[in-house]
Amino acid sequence: MSVFTNVLKQIKQAANHSSIPPSIFEQLKNPERILQFSFPVTMDNGSVKVFEGYRVQYSSARGPYKGGLRYHPQVNLDEVKALAFWMTVKCAVVGVPLGGSKGGVKVDPKKLSAGELERLTRALTRRLALFIGPQKDVPAPDVNTTPEIMAWVRDEYEKIVGYQEPAVVTGKPLNSGGSQGRVLATAQGGMYVLQELVNKLKIKPKQTTVAVQGMGNVGGIMAQLLYQAGYRVVAMSDSSGGIYNPRSLDVPAAEKFKKQNGSLKNFPNTKAISNSKLLELPVDILIPAALENQITDKNVSRIKARVIFEMANGPTTPEADIKLAKRKIIVVPDVLANAGGVTVSYFEMVQNLQQYYWHEGEVMTKLKPIMIQAFKQVWQRAEQLKLSLRTAAYVIAIERIAQAIEARGKY
Ligand code: NAD
Repeated sequence: MSVFTNVLKQIKQAANHSSIPPSIFEQLKNPERILQFSFPVTMDNGSVKVFEGYRVQYSSARGPYKGGLRYHPQVNLDEVKALAFWMTVKCAVVGVPLGGSKGGVKVDPKKLSAGELERLTRALTRRLALFIGPQKDVPAPDVNTTPEIMAWVRDEYEKIVGYQEPAVVTGKPLNSGGSQGRVLATAQGGMYVLQELVNKLKIKPKQTTVAVQGMGNVGGIMAQLLYQAGYRVVAMSDSSGGIYNPRSLDVPAAEKFKKQNGSLKNFPNTKAISNSKLLELPVDILIPAALENQITDKNVSRIKARVIFEMANGPTTPEADIKLAKRKIIVVPDVLANAGGVTVSYFEMVQNLQQYYWHEGEVMTKLKPIMIQAFKQVWQRAEQLKLSLRTAAYVIAIERIAQAIEARGKY
């Protein structure tokens, strides 16, 4: 299944509901630049392995390219192009002055030692160094990449350019120029949006059941925040499967259990559940927070949730989206739900460039109104044009991107 084909359908659909000129529509159909690279890494046993990867710089109309770096064995160009476009849309939806990009390396980092992972990251940075920088393209963490990895990118980049440049990547650890609140940002941003939605739907957290797929930076923290806010988190999972208790889970205990045992398997008072079954549970809110293409034509008819809140990027295919809309299942799209991450990444760049750092309260105080305003604009546009929230978000985004392109004058 081509994820980028899905993207093209999404662009077309949004363009049909907006007044952007055909020439701009044509520009949006293709990334501005695609980098395909390979690089050698010396492994612990002395052998040399060659790794492959991509960086797709989709649009710089609204500002420097911005997007995560993913380490995963299934990374491919089609996927990276789609992710880079979604970053472009996301930055436009929340109104931060950034474009969109994404990168990935085909690797299973679980099979690397700490030293191999660091050497791989430094070799990758040497390949990317000419093409990244605060005024060019700013990478960030994504699947299987961590703040520590971002600190290595910064360090290697600075060795190449010869000066301090913390704003070359975001999502760094605090003691390497990171922002307070960045680790929390994606999940917390999602919570601000969810709270607005819950108010609109007039439902109470205590009566609301939630299933969360994925227990990483996004899903794991979101589950914690939901638990703290009084929601009934009834199911959670990671790549090895999940757990379910129809009453509710003790999320902090489950997190602790996973840390101690490596997985959620045999967590007391729960039923083991596969990732595919988790998606089909009878819950009020389903939160995919792992990988794309989880809700597809194949399983959409079995989805029972009232709301799908997309914390992962691209978890719903366009075909499934249409069917969910017909069934009046509300889908809060990724480009809105998980945009808190890139918003605080933008704050991190601002702090790095100003050499002036904010405390966590200040970060969250600035994040909250941005997320709430983005939700309100998307909700209002969806009601006005009788569109899904996703298409409404895309319409807003491509209009803003088109305005930025037009403002630059003739080309
Ligand atoms: P992560 O690497 O921290 O965690 C990924 C989680 O997904 C892990 O718990 C892993 O076990 C689980 N997983 C992997 N394969 C799975 C499968 N087949 N089925 C179920 N679970 C599986 O990654 P993350 O940063 O939490 O990112 C998750 C999603 O959120 C991705 O789609 C990413 O693009 C998106 N996202 C991340 C951020 C961010 O700030 N980290 C921001 C916006 C969007």
